[in-house]
Amino acid sequence: MSEKVKVVIIGSGPAGLTAAIYTARADLSPIVIEGEPSSTTDQPGGQLMLTSDIENYPGFVEGIMGPELMSNFRSQAQRFGAIFNTTKVSRVDFSEHPFKVWTSNQTGEEPAYIADAVIISTGARSLLLNIDRETELIGHGISTCATCDGFFFRDQDIAVVGGGDSALEEAGFLTKFAKSVTVIHRRNELRASKIMQDRAFANPKISFIWDSTVTELHGDKSLEHITVTNNITGENTELPVTGLFVAIGHSPNTDLFKGQIDMDDVGYIITNSGTATNIPGVFACGDVQDHIYRQAITAAGSGCMAAIDLEKWLKESES
Ligand code: NAP
Repeated sequence: MSEKVKVVIIGSGPAGLTAAIYTARADLSPIVIEGEPSSTTDQPGGQLMLTSDIENYPGFVEGIMGPELMSNFRSQAQRFGAIFNTTKVSRVDFSEHPFKVWTSNQTGEEPAYIADAVIISTGARSLLLNIDRETELIGHGISTCATCDGFFFRDQDIAVVGGGDSALEEAGFLTKFAKSVTVIHRRNELRASKIMQDRAFANPKISFIWDSTVTELHGDKSLEHITVTNNITGENTELPVTGLFVAIGHSPNTDLFKGQIDMDDVGYIITNSGTATNIPGVFACGDVQDHIYRQAITAAGSGCMAAIDLEKWLKESES
């Protein structure tokens, strides 16, 4: 039988858990559908579960480990009465109010929850190369976030994969720390904007390997070198780098909501006036609606906004 609830929060990264803290403290007893551990890169807590030291989250002078930070967020939400369901949402129906939410651990055909309001905080994922040892070495030389991890590569030789604006932006940022940055691109022409290209070509610390793909990662406990294969000649080269930043794009986790919520042409949820979506009573926060900032602190901030927007909407719709 369906459970009638005020708020369902889908996703448990910094955005979802902050929304949970705020809605719980507003006495809305939110249900947080936090996901379930299904692979190294897909688990409750979101992308910070893949990060080691976090040194730029305000309030932690000595830094904090990503999983510890998320565990603290979760405990804080629980303390105020948020209820966690460790499962995934399998289907939603936002076509009429109240909203219907099905989960993968439910029994029967009825929706698991009938909710007055929903917060979507399913995040985004960095695209990966899908090569051996890649997920195992995340946090040990492999990274998808220069802003988060660049600092750890001071005076080291590192590489960036990708030919878009993100790759060149990360490469430029990384030259503040690294001894050298090699950009490895699969074609001989960059996708990035002209201004980013000009900046990268003018930076003496940045060099390029064209028409090439990273095919192997080597190192015992952390990355020591990589194999780069030329896509035209098939020739393999060993590159001694201790850091590899994968910057080949992101993908928002929005498949569940396709056809029900307005999205931009790459699938990010469109929010207006704060965190409202096109459906009154459905809000979105964090990376699922932000392809620009993508930081834990900005996601947490927008989770707070979603909770406040939701509370206001509930009050107005009840009056
Ligand atoms: P993107 O523009 O889609 O570029 C992705 C790059 O990764 C492309 O060069 C692509 O190669 C390469 N790539 C994709 N899959 C690959 C794979 N499996 N192996 C190796 N290489 C692979 O993504 P983005 O750079 O993240 O940018 C996303 C959007 O944000 C863009 O609109 C961009 O302009 C914008 N952005 C803007 C700024 C800025 O203005 N400061 C900064 C960052 C991002 P191909 O070129 O061969 O397809």
